[in-house]
Parts: sequence; structure tokens; C-alpha cells
Amino acid sequence: MDLDKAIGLVAEVPDFPRPGILFRDFAPLFASADGFAAVTAALADTLDHDVELLAAVEARGFLLAAALGQASGLGVVMVRKPGKLPQVAARADYELEYGTAALELPAGVVQPGQHVAVIDDVLATGGTVAAACGLLEQADAVVTGVSVVLELDGLGGREALSGRQVHALHSS
Ligand code: IMP
Repeated sequence: MDLDKAIGLVAEVPDFPRPGILFRDFAPLFASADGFAAVTAALADTLDHDVELLAAVEARGFLLAAALGQASGLGVVMVRKPGKLPQVAARADYELEYGTAALELPAGVVQPGQHVAVIDDVLATGGTVAAACGLLEQADAVVTGVSVVLELDGLGGREALSGRQVHALHSS
């Protein structure tokens, strides 16, 4: 399947999780073996040659990074929502459009100096990915870049990540 068709499988759901929000639902894309494979191959093309590990943002980032890691010969570190990890290296609290959120990095997984690429489904304001990058850098990893499937225009995600290499397969 070509990439445009694969990305076209992402459904747009109005007024979720709140009125006025157009939610991009990845469920139909993940359910399509060919669509998922096309997106995985395109993400693989965004990775720098020196990447040693993928950092996956909960939850859809887990699926993307797992597939990408298997396709690219790379392991995955899960950047998790609070309260899930038995051993936490660091926690980052950050602002969402409405309210706050937090992410945690597991202890003892990322090695100092390791080159890590951050993987997620959607880049909106950039707060989530910026928090994940910050956690990795607190662990003395080198963030080589950020790869997402969809970038939502006009929400400031690129600006929030200025100075970082940001790859988006599609923007809208
Ligand atoms: P940001 O922190 O504002 O960039 O929001 C990005 C995070 O929120 C990512 O982890 C996404 O999974 C999630 N997100 C934001 N908008 C959507 C959407 O429309 N569909 C799916 N996830 C979204």
C-alpha cells in the first residue's frame, strides 16, 4: 500500500475527547497489515544511521516503535504515563491544551551517550514529545530526532521542538 493511502486510514473523529477537537483515530490504520507496514517502512526511512534505541511514547507510540524496532533491528524503551513503572529514572510534568500530564522513564534502560530516536503517532503542541526528549537527556542519552506519523499544523509543535530534527510522515 502506498503511504498516502495508509495515512488515509487514520479516521477523523469530531468532538473527541472534547467538543471542538478533531481526533485522529489510528485504530483502522493499525488494523490494516498493509497500511501498518507502509507506515513502518516510511518511519524507518526517517531514522538517522547512528540511532541505537527507539523511545516510544505511551500508548500508540508503543505499537509504532515495536514494529519499527523489529524492522530496523533496534530495541525500544517505553516512556510511560505515571504509576506504571516499578523503577523510575525521571519524571516530567508538562502542560496540555487543557490541564497537565506527566511521563516517566524507566530506570536502568537507557545508557549514557546512547543515540535515541523518539517515536509517537501525533505531534500537536509538542509538549508530549518535548517531555520525552527531556527525560532521555536527563539520562544523558543523545536524542537524534523525533519521528511521528501525523503533525497537526498550527499548534506550535515544531516551535516547541526547535533545534531538534522533527520528521513527520504527513501534516494536516
Ligand atoms: P501534544 O503533546 O500536544 O503534541 O500532543 C501529542 C500527544 O497527544 C501524542 O502523544 C498523541 O498520542 C496525543 N494526541 C493529540 N492529538 C491526538 C489525536 O488527534 N489523535 C491521537 N492522539 C492525539
